[in-house]
Amino acid sequence: MRILVTGGAGFIGTNFVRFLLGLPQEQGQGPELVVNLDKLTYAGNPENLRDLAGEPRYRFVQGDIGDTDLVAGLLREHRIDAVAHFAAESHVDRSIDGPEAFVQTNVVGTFRLLEAVRRHWQAGGEGDRRAFRFLHVSTDEVFGSLGPDDAPFAETTAYAPNSPYSASKAASDHFVRAYHHTYGLPAVATNCSNNYGPYQFPEKLIPLVLLNALALKPLPVYGDGKNIRDWLYVEDHCRGIWTVLTGGRPGETYNIGGLNEMANIEIVRTLCSHLDALRPRADGRGYAEQITFVADRPGHDRRYSVDCRKIRAELGWKPQETFASGIAKTVGWYLENQPWCEHIKANTYQQQRLGTG
Ligand code: NAD
Repeated sequence: MRILVTGGAGFIGTNFVRFLLGLPQEQGQGPELVVNLDKLTYAGNPENLRDLAGEPRYRFVQGDIGDTDLVAGLLREHRIDAVAHFAAESHVDRSIDGPEAFVQTNVVGTFRLLEAVRRHWQAGGEGDRRAFRFLHVSTDEVFGSLGPDDAPFAETTAYAPNSPYSASKAASDHFVRAYHHTYGLPAVATNCSNNYGPYQFPEKLIPLVLLNALALKPLPVYGDGKNIRDWLYVEDHCRGIWTVLTGGRPGETYNIGGLNEMANIEIVRTLCSHLDALRPRADGRGYAEQITFVADRPGHDRRYSVDCRKIRAELGWKPQETFASGIAKTVGWYLENQPWCEHIKANTYQQQRLGTG
């Protein structure tokens, strides 16, 4: 496989590139080439992958998924036979403050990427066309919000996006579906729940709480803190994407979830107790004292829950981490990578808003 990863300098993309290059080469599992196309917006961090500079199977290209000539050239030059599409504007709060960038990247950008990929795919021989895959990374947020007793989102649940972010992702999902249906492009899509783990930009809940806690700043929690998300460890997600890319049926969508619903306030308290144990406050008080409830996000979805029985039954994937094991690894990573955090805070991170994804 010679794979183009879009958005590979962001949170999940970074973990996915590392996952791909870590697959055992000798058993022929790993790709021959990984080309990472990333515009390096505020959310893309070249530092995440700097240590891969000497890796012969890896290329980084700074550019926009909406630049059709650039994408067409990369597809041709590198004889790409698989695309994993992560690039997006991804933060709900930013989509409320400025929705246009979300339409540009998530909708127009995905459309242009699909066009370039379609032409490249159509120019290939029959065997190449059959083997080609386009994997689109989407979100559970396209399904809307659940009540406390509602069944989890299934692949067949009707779309009901509530934020400009989820509306833009839903639109891009529909284009991917249409390119399969109309042109026969071998596309698969995944809808995953909230990810957590290393390299997450500190505007999202878990890294924001960790970094604010250590800086003795308030830990802002939206509304009553009882919004529920299904938390998925990012490495489990990467393995799920690889499973769908290599084994999923073209034209199908697969939900990927962590089997782990938790309210935001529980997440914040868990992080506080980890820090109390690992890096206690000098004054002997608990980090939970820093929790501050703030005005809720407009239109804040109450609950997401993901039914991922399809990927398990068809492809044998299930999460390997429990929340306890995944969060312990995550807290450990942020504590061990303080310079990464400091660098991001100093250079790019201006706002102190809280995102729950
Ligand atoms: P992220 O914001 O951390 O990273 C996005 C990356 O895309 C950045 O590196 C950015 O520079 C790049 N990018 C943005 N616009 C681009 C453009 N026009 N051209 C090329 N590159 C561009 O996002 P993430 O959290 O890693 O999410 C990755 C994907 O997964 C997104 O499609 C998102 O919708 C989806 N998703 C994320 C989560 C989550 O919990 N983080 C959950 C469900 C789905």
